[in-house]
Amino acid sequence: MIHRIEPACQTPPWQQSLAGAFREPEAFLRYLQLDRALLPAARTAARQFGLKVPREFAELITPGDPDDPLLRQVLPIGAEQLPSAGFGPDPVGDLDKAVGPGMLHKYQGRLLLIASGSCAVNCRYCFRRHYPYQEAAAYRHGWTQAVEHIHQHGDIEEIILSGGDPLTLTDSKLAALISRLEGIPHLKRLRIHTRLPVVIPSRLTNELTALLGSGRLQSVLVLHINHPRELSPGLVEGLQPMKRAGISLLNQSVLLKGVNDNADTLVALSSGLFEAGILPYYLHLLDRVAGAAHFEVKAERIRQLQDELRARLPGYLMPRVVREVAGAPAKQPVI
Ligand SMILES: *Cc1c(COP(=O)(O)O)cnc(C)c1O
Ligand code: SF4
Repeated sequence: MIHRIEPACQTPPWQQSLAGAFREPEAFLRYLQLDRALLPAARTAARQFGLKVPREFAELITPGDPDDPLLRQVLPIGAEQLPSAGFGPDPVGDLDKAVGPGMLHKYQGRLLLIASGSCAVNCRYCFRRHYPYQEAAAYRHGWTQAVEHIHQHGDIEEIILSGGDPLTLTDSKLAALISRLEGIPHLKRLRIHTRLPVVIPSRLTNELTALLGSGRLQSVLVLHINHPRELSPGLVEGLQPMKRAGISLLNQSVLLKGVNDNADTLVALSSGLFEAGILPYYLHLLDRVAGAAHFEVKAERIRQLQDELRARLPGYLMPRVVREVAGAPAKQPVI
């Protein structure tokens, strides 16, 4: 089926916001009324992995609070520079397993495409921080190899667009890809993993809803929300048309020290997600990427948190606690 997208006469608001994101530590600290003493370390750490924060996300951060859980996810700090045993540049060993440019066929029945090399926000804990994802992206060759690979593998039922953030692609680029995917008879589901609407809610355009809600493939949108305060009114409102269009909404979080490593926060997150029409899917343990050791939660604490969550949440609001293990046939449950 052909998806019709009206030609945009001007740059959509979300792209303007993306272009206007904070990238200078100095301007960002000033906007948040934070101590200038944080600046030298922020500048040094940003040289390795740049600061990038859209204004809509900055507005959710409490001004003047250096320990704000949302700030902690995006502000470059000195601790990133400390060497840490067991933390390396490629903790998941992903790119060695590529079956083509930006194509990971690691799990049965599902093909993951690195659909875009960039993100709307640079999260300090991200495994992407050391990777040349630009070169790895599957769109590089017009998706041709990816589409061929799926054609040749009749067992692939689900295509997962990941990244980077696939929603950095415009609606018309996504439409072009999706119409090619719809032409593959054995493909049933399209899943998109994204944090973009969390940091720029206006990314949830009517075109995107139409695109994901009306095609032949069943669509699943997996949001990456780590803290209940990230469920902004703009995000929650923007998701409702998607819900009505029959798009399944799931969430995955990363367990992060100083951000969401307490039961009250995680219970409020699950409850807030459900109110917004989203089901908790995964609570990931941190990938042990160099520069992110200060986000790691100790094993003993993880156990306590899991017990407390299980006691306080209905089963359907309990996220599956998992970790990525190189070479394993699926994400591994943490017990
Ligand atoms: C995480 C991941 C998936 C999806 O796994 P689910 O458990 O289905 O969410 C698929 N392919 C790759 C390469 C992954 O890393
Ligand atoms: S891939 Fe996800 S976690 Fe990593 S920087 Fe992009 S949005 Fe953040």
